[in-house]
Amino acid sequence: MQSVFDHMQQMGHEQVAFCHDPHSGLNAIIAIHNTTLGPALGGTRLWNYNTHEEAIIDALRLSRGMTYKAAISGLNLGGGKAVIIGNAPEIKSEALWRRYGKFVNSLNGKYITAEDVNTSARDMEYISLETEFVTGVPEYMGGSGDPSPFTAYGVFVGMKAAAKKAWGSDSLSGKRILVQGVGHVGQYLTGHLIEEGAKVFITDINNEKIKQTVEKFHSVEVVSGDKIWDLDIDIYAPCALGATVNSETISKMRFPVIAGAANNQLAEENVHGPMLIEKGIHYVPDFLINAGGLINVGAELDGYNRERVMGNVNKIYDRTLEIFDLSEKEKIHTQAAAMKIAEKRLQDIANVKARL
Ligand code: NAD
Repeated sequence: MQSVFDHMQQMGHEQVAFCHDPHSGLNAIIAIHNTTLGPALGGTRLWNYNTHEEAIIDALRLSRGMTYKAAISGLNLGGGKAVIIGNAPEIKSEALWRRYGKFVNSLNGKYITAEDVNTSARDMEYISLETEFVTGVPEYMGGSGDPSPFTAYGVFVGMKAAAKKAWGSDSLSGKRILVQGVGHVGQYLTGHLIEEGAKVFITDINNEKIKQTVEKFHSVEVVSGDKIWDLDIDIYAPCALGATVNSETISKMRFPVIAGAANNQLAEENVHGPMLIEKGIHYVPDFLINAGGLINVGAELDGYNRERVMGNVNKIYDRTLEIFDLSEKEKIHTQAAAMKIAEKRLQDIANVKARL
């Protein structure tokens, strides 16, 4: 078994902090991947991991993704992410969030937190009682609130760019689109797609989320999880958890576009990125297409301006086309093309900072 340091070395992490508080039941891991561009901003995920190793790997992979996400989005932010281990309804409490806020504070601004899966703007409010290094706090407290609408809008424009690449037009009208996971982002995305005239199929493991979505958007069609690969669709939008694009699922895919919000969609980027190219599937790299939420919370740090945020989120459209072009020109898969652009910015800025 590899040690934490082996993983950190392989993925290039700067720091990992383990936080434990028996009183509130807090067990958290804060992973800081790279602070070349600025403080590491990334959400806190609350998840019932099967093993501690699984939680560590998740924090390491997610924080690395944040470095690339900030770099490709032109933000002056580093990559970080935190995970809290536990069953959300059982462990969430004011004491847990405030204790966690103290741990975040002890890093003196090197890591700034925000929402992620199973954490909300209300939870950020508790954290903000103990640290200033938190974003995504509610609007009534001067924050920008839930980042999901911005993430969903970014996914929508990135999907339109992918449609332009695949069909020569960016209209999604009449396109058959599967949204896998109708939580925060998936529901907002469904709204944009329906407004544009797409036929939307939804799937989720949580019946309450399905019910909410159907009540909001009557025209959606519900599909059970085990039937999704039999569907005749044009676009697959993964908006649940990662690694849904793997050898098994790719063999069943019969559509030309993957564009969704989930982080770490490719189970193994250097295996599955090339497989998608071979199959002629246009994959929009996750850390590019789902950057809307980061762009939004990051804006809280320099004086929030909604128009500026929307302008930056809209840039995902052109960046997606740029990445498809680079991928074709250099015969590399799209994730590798996006990483190349992000790494170049990291090197350029490291060089700027190293000189007087
Ligand atoms: P969420 O928890 O609100 O929604 C996720 C949904 O997926 C839930 O309804 C859950 O029941 C469902 N789900 C889980 N496993 C599933 C499965 N196997 N099949 C079908 N549905 C399943 O989370 P969210 O905030 O909407 O984020 C969705 C994804 O997008 C996550 O991977 C998250 O990391 C990523 N993301 C979110 C944001 C954001 O602004 N919220 C930003 C960037 C990336």
